Amino acid sequence: MAHEFSPTRRDMLKLAGTTASVAAIAATAPGAVYAAAPMLGVSRPSIYRFKLGNFEITNILDGYVQGNGPHPIFGNNQPAEVVQAYAKSQGLHPTKMENPYVNTFVNTGKELVLFDAGNAKGRLPTAGKLAELLLVAGYKPEQVDVVVITHGHPDHVGGLMEGDKVTYPNARYVFSEVDFDYWKKGENIAETRKVTREVYMKSAVPMAEKATFLKGEGEVVPGIRSIPAYGHSPGMMAFHIESDGQRLLNWADVANHYIMAIQQPEWHVSFDDDKEMGVATRKRFFDMVSNDRLAVVGYHMPFPALGFVEKAGTSYRWVPAGYQFNL
Ligand SMILES: [Zn+2]
Repeated sequence: MAHEFSPTRRDMLKLAGTTASVAAIAATAPGAVYAAAPMLGVSRPSIYRFKLGNFEITNILDGYVQGNGPHPIFGNNQPAEVVQAYAKSQGLHPTKMENPYVNTFVNTGKELVLFDAGNAKGRLPTAGKLAELLLVAGYKPEQVDVVVITHGHPDHVGGLMEGDKVTYPNARYVFSEVDFDYWKKGENIAETRKVTREVYMKSAVPMAEKATFLKGEGEVVPGIRSIPAYGHSPGMMAFHIESDGQRLLNWADVANHYIMAIQQPEWHVSFDDDKEMGVATRKRFFDMVSNDRLAVVGYHMPFPALGFVEKAGTSYRWVPAGYQFNL
């Protein structure tokens, strides 16, 4: 294959000519100084599109939040020093962290399906960008046929409305029945989840009249099926996506951090509404995706939020996808 990269004699002559003319320009402008390029600030990739069989999948970074952590969000049942030392040993800042939000569009060729609606615009200065970025990605809100809500937390339902306006005017909605009932009823919810319920009542409950409700395993559209993943939220659903023999699991918030939640699945996560069920669900899903080498998209995995889970000793680790989906 080396010959493909060898320049021809003609190329060499062209190259020589270019070098000569650059030298000539430099010679005619003695002492010319080019200003240093300005600093442009951080640039983040925020749109990523790949193929899964005959489906086209687009991940969009709705945004991110930075704050204190990983402890006590992760390792909620562990001493702070233990979690901080572990973070450091993994090359992470011991007391500061970032959490990304990644939405997934699946174009089946017949329908455009959006998983979760992102944060409400204005909830955070660094999030709530989905509605703008989907235009950049080449879609219009009117083209979204189905919005699937994995669970009722504000970073997943806040973007269903923009003020008093429905964000996706032509969409039908798919909810987990268990999760919808839980957040709508609002019985015995933790003090820390009062705001979650307020957002839910305002953003998600009005969609009920255009919604279908899945109980257990069920079909969203041909090729997309729900799998119960209760724990992080009482009725959270993951979704198995398959086209032309290629498979992918959207595990929603089964793991909320690519190191802390995957390498230490038994550590409690403060965001989990049922912490022990969260642990059991993580281990069940990690076993499933590592045994099957099933690719994963996860809402809080580092962008583009596409990867695999491998067994590592008695635990697991996140392996970001490389070019597997480009071939
Ligand atoms: Zn979330």
